[in-house]
Amino acid sequence: MAATTQESTPKSVDLIESVNPNNGEVLGHVPIHTEEQVNAAVRRAREAAVEWGNLTHAERRNQLVRWRRLLAAQADEIADLIHRENGKPRVDAMLEVMNSLSHLSYAANRAEKIMADQKVSAGVMANFRATISYHPLGVVGVIGPWNYPVFTPMGSIGYALAAGNAVVFKPSEITPLVGQLIADIAATAISVPNVFQCVTGDGRTGGALASAAVDKIAFTGSVGTGKRVMEAAAKNLTPVLMELGGKDAMIVADDADVNKAAEAAVFGALTNAGQACISVERAYVADSVYQQFVDKVVDEVRNVRVGGDEDANIGAITLPRQIDIIRDHLEDAVAKGAKVLVGGPDKIDGNFVHPTVVTDVTPDMRILSEETFGPVLPVIRVSSAEEGLRLANDTTFGLGSSIFGKAGIRKLARRIRAGMTSINSVMAFAAIPSLPFGGVGDSGFGRIHGDEGLKEFTRTKATAEERFTLPMALMSFKLPKNTYDKIRGMVQQMYGGGPVDRAGEVLHKLRRKRR
Ligand code: NDP
Repeated sequence: MAATTQESTPKSVDLIESVNPNNGEVLGHVPIHTEEQVNAAVRRAREAAVEWGNLTHAERRNQLVRWRRLLAAQADEIADLIHRENGKPRVDAMLEVMNSLSHLSYAANRAEKIMADQKVSAGVMANFRATISYHPLGVVGVIGPWNYPVFTPMGSIGYALAAGNAVVFKPSEITPLVGQLIADIAATAISVPNVFQCVTGDGRTGGALASAAVDKIAFTGSVGTGKRVMEAAAKNLTPVLMELGGKDAMIVADDADVNKAAEAAVFGALTNAGQACISVERAYVADSVYQQFVDKVVDEVRNVRVGGDEDANIGAITLPRQIDIIRDHLEDAVAKGAKVLVGGPDKIDGNFVHPTVVTDVTPDMRILSEETFGPVLPVIRVSSAEEGLRLANDTTFGLGSSIFGKAGIRKLARRIRAGMTSINSVMAFAAIPSLPFGGVGDSGFGRIHGDEGLKEFTRTKATAEERFTLPMALMSFKLPKNTYDKIRGMVQQMYGGGPVDRAGEVLHKLRRKRR
């Protein structure tokens, strides 16, 4: 389904306008696809899924590699469109392209191994061959966000395609052109028509996809919309994968490399203007290094350039209504006694929010409990990393996290209640294709990326094949009179260490032989 350009199509109620948040430039229009059109796309995908699913892994891999090569060849065009539609600096947009292709590559190359049949122990049924096999689901609906309009949906699209599914993708209404572009490139690279389609529109189009006859919905966005998507999917018992927001904490222990931690906190909180589900949204810093950390953070933040020009480190806020949320969080914090060290609610200029560092924050402030999704870093003084850990876990969210320090740091990291943790770094887990990505609690469930991300788009099938018939057939109504005693003997021999009888011995030997 092709996008229309500004020149060729006048604005109408049935079209969505894509606008550059940095300067208001209209970039193009896309249609708002109706429920009927979404259902038609799903029907086409269903046909494509049969052909695509019947290919060998090697055949699918070759086609996905061809798509990846074309995406790489058009990296400038894609990065430019990400930059203009989302507002992030061009270099960040190119980094997004690189990380997206790294995931596509991983998924394409790994699917065969991960979906290979697995022979497993048959346990007490030792005369059986037990096999687990993995099969494509069929059609996967992907509802994507605007903050990483290629990278985030690719975590579902690339993995679902590699696992043999067809995909219908609904990009955010804020970034539809780049969604359409990657689908157009796929159409030239992949020989199976309609295996990856893009439908455009607003929440109604997304709602139609969630209600359509798809085999899974992979959603990224807010908790509220996630719940609505689940409700719609529940009508068809469609399984869902939910990648929702976060309130990621950084913990800085007293033996941390403080300057490194401060630089990482600034990057983690401000990159993409703080519009990342894994942004650092809270930093808990041990008392002994607190002041050094805060001074370094403020120093670094003062050097961060905001704007839409080539020298800017961060661009505009992509979603205009997000600016009100950021302002509300800051005003609420200031009204309750927080101290603004740099930036602040009065440093919001149109679509641009100046990076802000706040201290003296308390748990009753919205800035510590709700997702701010802006270039804001609250820093909290704690007595130790242990106290930081307790406060970090005191949240309904649990997506990413980071921890800086040395002694016992891995043990502390394990105790952070989150789907992902970076040690002495931030956000690194997202760029490592072999690591699964996803959250706990209000941050959602299910995993994209990694081997688990591939399995997420498969259905598991169990097969039990009889290799030979045992003298005593237990799955029969024609049991000899002494069967009860025989089974009791087996129970005692195999599970209780009791006296061994003949049947138990046979089974025991068989099991040993299989091992
Ligand atoms: P939403 O959750 O509202 O939107 C996410 C996606 O869902 C978009 O593609 C959207 O389409 C679509 N959508 C909206 N309504 C429906 C519906 N009823 N059924 C199906 N799909 C629907 O997020 P927003 O873009 O409004 O951002 C709001 C907040 O969400 C942010 O402040 C941030 O906190 C969080 N967020 C989290 C992200 C993450 O990475 N976890 C990413 C983006 C946002 P459309 O855009 O066309 O309305």
